[in-house]
Amino acid sequence: MEVTIIAETTGNELHPVTAQLVGAACSIGGTPTVICPGGVGATEASSISGVGKVVSAEGECFGSFDSGAWASALSPLCEGVVMASSSAHSREVLAQVAAIRNIPIIQDATGLESGIRVTRPIYSGKAIETSVASGPCAISIRQNAFEASGSGGNADISTVNNTSDVGVAVREALAKASERLDVAEADIIISGGRGMGDPSNFSHLYEIADIVGAAVGASRAAVDTWDDIPHDMQVGQTGKTVNPSLYIAVGISGAIQHLAGMRSSKYIVAINKDPDAPIFSVADYGIVSTWEEALPALRDEFGKL
Ligand SMILES: Cc1cc2nc3c(=O)[nH]c(=O)nc-3n(C[C@H](O)[C@H](O)[C@H](O)COP(=O)(O)OP(=O)(O)OC[C@H]3O[C@@H](n4cnc5c(N)ncnc54)[C@H](O)[C@@H]3O)c2cc1C
Repeated sequence: MEVTIIAETTGNELHPVTAQLVGAACSIGGTPTVICPGGVGATEASSISGVGKVVSAEGECFGSFDSGAWASALSPLCEGVVMASSSAHSREVLAQVAAIRNIPIIQDATGLESGIRVTRPIYSGKAIETSVASGPCAISIRQNAFEASGSGGNADISTVNNTSDVGVAVREALAKASERLDVAEADIIISGGRGMGDPSNFSHLYEIADIVGAAVGASRAAVDTWDDIPHDMQVGQTGKTVNPSLYIAVGISGAIQHLAGMRSSKYIVAINKDPDAPIFSVADYGIVSTWEEALPALRDEFGKL
């Protein structure tokens, strides 16, 4: 079965989720072709075990992100099952590739079997939906849901120049938005809730985020209460669903709607002054303390790593 992967890139590097996409493709018997938008990470992609070939897609349109322009340039290179990560950018590109190629799309898959049977959580993770695709389709996969393929590959790299016009003028807004890591893409997230007391106190979270390379998230109460905390930071049922290796919840009670967006994180650390806060029921490590006391200690310890 032909499988095309649109590689995930961050700046000038290949994102590790690309190896997970290869792992997912191999699990259904594919020998995927990996397309690297802008040629970013092509050499690294060729060394991922299981990759059939790498296409370095070069062109002016990859100088900045515009989902429509990327999709028009990438879709002629895609064959069969087209896979990408379920990051905000890739979901957008994949949806447009699917529309151009007139194929169905399944977003945010967490399971894949040959056939092609795709499973994904719905209703905030309360139910699992199984879809069966009978032909070419597009599938975005959730980060950390699949084993990454190892290194040791040596796939051929070919280069194509398939540029397309850059469409809507969203570059400025996106550049601004990407100054900080997006919670949907981060492997470590530190989120603050209403218990932070004031939006200016989120600076303590940013301080730690800068040390460990984390994204900063927020509860809906924080986002709704304070204008300075933007909606794209919200984690939960009506915010973003995240699946990082480490999620640190600070001053967040752990309402069911918040848990719906982060409970599948690999390790959860909760800092809350109330020992009965529901967040502790999902935490691997719980610190019963005010954030005023806990965060400086955490920052100092992370600083030593
Ligand atoms: C339809 C619907 C959808 C929703 N979607 C979402 C969603 O997507 N995401 C989301 O987050 N919520 C969502 N909510 C809201 C959710 O129900 C909660 O209201 C919200 O998550 C509470 O946010 P919080 O934990 O920050 O605030 P609170 O519930 O007010 O909790 C604050 C916590 O901070 C602790 N605290 C206070 N001071 C300190 C301190 N100094 N140090 C340490 N801890 C301290 C307190 O003990 C408390 O546990 C939704 C609700 C509805 C009805």
